[in-house]
Parts: sequence; structure tokens; C-alpha cells
Amino acid sequence: MIRIVTLEPYDPEDLAALSRTLFQAYGLGTEHAGSKPLPAEAETNDGRYDAARILSEVEPIKTFADDKVLYLTSAPIRVKPGPLGEPPSWCYAVFGGDRAVLSTGRIPARGATEASIEDYRQRLAREAIHSVGHLWELHHCYDPRCAMHPSWSPNLPEHPEQHLCTFCREKSERRIRMSKT
Ligand SMILES: [Zn+2]
Ligand SMILES: [Zn+2]
Repeated sequence: MIRIVTLEPYDPEDLAALSRTLFQAYGLGTEHAGSKPLPAEAETNDGRYDAARILSEVEPIKTFADDKVLYLTSAPIRVKPGPLGEPPSWCYAVFGGDRAVLSTGRIPARGATEASIEDYRQRLAREAIHSVGHLWELHHCYDPRCAMHPSWSPNLPEHPEQHLCTFCREKSERRIRMSKT
């Protein structure tokens, strides 16, 4: 099961749409498991939030063995810099782990028109599929149409699709099957 935990209020219809798309992408039940406060301890001196600390400090929710938990916040997050510097952070996922945090602040504004809300929901879904993909040990994918293509890539289309390529999809299906046995 995929459990979405919001760290601030989100529109319930946006969350319902997100749950449906995650269910379609991974074939796993997905629900909004409630809201928790964004842990103040995770705030860093530049005003961004340390993503790993969000995951370690946030109040726990009830989960079962194979659950994956996706936290949503509009706060900017930072991750530990790698050899090439600090990557632009949309999400932080413990690779192969059980929890990830997605910063929705980078998604173009939701706006108030039907079209802008639809764009927002599609991008939110794409980034959520991406974050959860890392939890199923999916790596970044070269295919710019695949949800596992890096979110910061200059090759990303303006309105990226919310699907996994065949390779990534099959890999996720294998991982999900293995976790159930
Ligand atoms: Zn990624
Ligand atoms: Zn792919």
C-alpha cells in the first residue's frame, strides 16, 4: 500500500486524483493517510528543510510491512551534496526504502483555471510516481518521456507524461512482486 502523508493542507480532490494515478502506475492501493506537522527541527540555516531529517523527525504513522509512505510539502528541501554539488531537489527518497518526501513547491503554480489545475495534477502525479519509483529501486531513466527521467533534466518536456517506460514499469512490477512473497 502507498500512503500519502501531507505536511500541510492540500486540496482533497488533488489528493484523490494523485491516489488514482499512483494506483494506476503501480497497481497498489493508495490512500491519503492524514496530515502531520512539518518537523521544525529539519529547518536549516538557509530556510530550506533537510530532507533526510524530515523523514527521521516526522511523527510516525501506522504502517504495515510493505507500505511505502510519500510525504508532501511545499517547503523547499535540501539533500546532501554529491560529488557534482547539490542536486536540485524535487524529492528525496531512501533508495529501496519505505519513505520519500516530495517538495511540491517546484511544481508550476496550481492556479484557478481548469487547465492549470489539470497541469498541476499531472505534474504532481509525475513527481510522485518518480519518488515512489526510487523506493522500488528504480534508477533515473534516459527516456525523457518516462516518469523516472530526472526532474531537473533540460530534456524534460514542458508537460511531462505521468507514465513509466516499459523497462521501468517491468522492473517496478518485479520489485513489487518480490516484496509480496
Ligand atoms: Zn530521482
Ligand atoms: Zn524509464
